Amino acid sequence: MQFDRLRLTGFKSFVDTTDLIILQGLTGVVGPNGCGKSNLLEALRWVMGENRPTAMRGAGMEDVIFAGSGRRPARAQAEVTISVDNSDRVAPAGMNDADRLEITRRITRDAGSAYRINGREVRARDVQMLFADASTGSHSPALVRQGQIGELINARSQARGRILEEAAGISGLYQRRHEAVLKLDGAEANLKRVDETLDGLA
Ligand code: ATP
Repeated sequence: MQFDRLRLTGFKSFVDTTDLIILQGLTGVVGPNGCGKSNLLEALRWVMGENRPTAMRGAGMEDVIFAGSGRRPARAQAEVTISVDNSDRVAPAGMNDADRLEITRRITRDAGSAYRINGREVRARDVQMLFADASTGSHSPALVRQGQIGELINARSQARGRILEEAAGISGLYQRRHEAVLKLDGAEANLKRVDETLDGLA
């Protein structure tokens, strides 16, 4: 799965619409301290469905919205779009009928996040699964934040296991299994209630 453009509007320090063109091969982002290099990586993780504010270096998810500066007022919304070349049809069934996918996440103050794939509204889970299946999810080991190597060395084996699962592209399967188990538990609880009602009628 090849990413070719990241577009940010109102996301952290990127108040005006900014395009990062990602060409084939290695892309380097260089600049002085505080110019927004880490914000770009966070935008990538965020549009893939990251939902932990701490992973965005914030206290709440709305902290990703441009907070204003001396000359510019704060924004009410932040939006990030990642364009993906899907000519190899890596995307899961249901969304792999297009050669290009544009995945957008928008957050509005007091209204939370909304996701779209090629203009169609989808759930956060659909976006998370799309990237998890392609081994490029927001927890992907390909995205290394500052301090992460130290965390990895000190991590428990279970946490290291999750990193390997993500790298192997099977974390989506674990998520689906978890959801299936929850549904099964719900069905069993319903069955129990039906049995109790039937017992009451007998
Ligand atoms: P370094 O090289 O020091 O790691 P960097 O280039 O990675 O720096 P970032 O950490 O990405 O820089 O960007 C930090 C800048 O983003 C700071 O100037 C900070 O004020 C700004 N910033 C972060 N969140 C917001 C926000 N919600 N609104 C406006 N600006 C923000």
